[in-house]
Amino acid sequence: MGEPLLSVRQLNVSYGGIQAVKNLSLDLNPGELVSLIGANGAGKTTTLKAICGLLQPASGEVRYQGRTIKGQGAWELVSQGLVMVPEGRGIFTRMTIEENLRMGAYLRRDAEVESDIEAIYTRFPRLKERHRQLAGTLSGGEQQMLAMGRALLAKPKLLLLDEPSMGLAPIMVEQIFQVVQEVAQQGVTVLLVEQNAHRALELADRAYVLDSGEMVLSGPAADLLRDPQVQAAYLGA
Ligand code: ATP
Repeated sequence: MGEPLLSVRQLNVSYGGIQAVKNLSLDLNPGELVSLIGANGAGKTTTLKAICGLLQPASGEVRYQGRTIKGQGAWELVSQGLVMVPEGRGIFTRMTIEENLRMGAYLRRDAEVESDIEAIYTRFPRLKERHRQLAGTLSGGEQQMLAMGRALLAKPKLLLLDEPSMGLAPIMVEQIFQVVQEVAQQGVTVLLVEQNAHRALELADRAYVLDSGEMVLSGPAADLLRDPQVQAAYLGA
């Protein structure tokens, strides 16, 4: 196999005196869907923020497309295809749905933006029906779809998803996971952080398990699903 698309080595991230991520290493190969699971406060969000340039690590290395990420702002990384959908979605509630989508394409200068917006509307018909409505009026599930649509308009090579199913009704959760799977099948590399460990392992090729800031287990997702230790700690078995 060639070089990983993302490679994290010995990452340490602290908030003042609290070390939230300790000596964390992980790899994502092009085209993989990888899940990162762990209890509340395990350090999942902190890991994603350090990867996408929103938090400065105390030490360690993040390599993306073969180059070290250091000091680049999140926008610069977005322009290189490293895109995050944050926990709580981060949509602009006082802008319309269409304006939110256009923000996703803000850094693009190619001629395909309009057809890509149409493709998002085809994928999410609810967004098309409501494209002039303020995004804050959407339901939680629709807001998550908008956040995903906006991220896809940035043409991601690597998509970091932070708890996309959080707070959603079960039917919406399934729709969101379906979209995640489709996006991955279309060739986007995905790092999925999820509380819903069962579904996250069912969807993923591989997974990592984080506990108190440390990576404690990793492997093919199907193996972790059958692992008694994982079942007892994370799958409610
Ligand atoms: P959750 O599923 O609850 O979002 P998580 O696995 O994403 O959890 P993080 O949000 O990364 O975990 O938090 C890791 C640790 O860092 C926790 O102990 C948390 O309290 C702490 N922490 C997170 N953000 C901050 C902050 N801004 N300031 C201080 N401590 C923080």
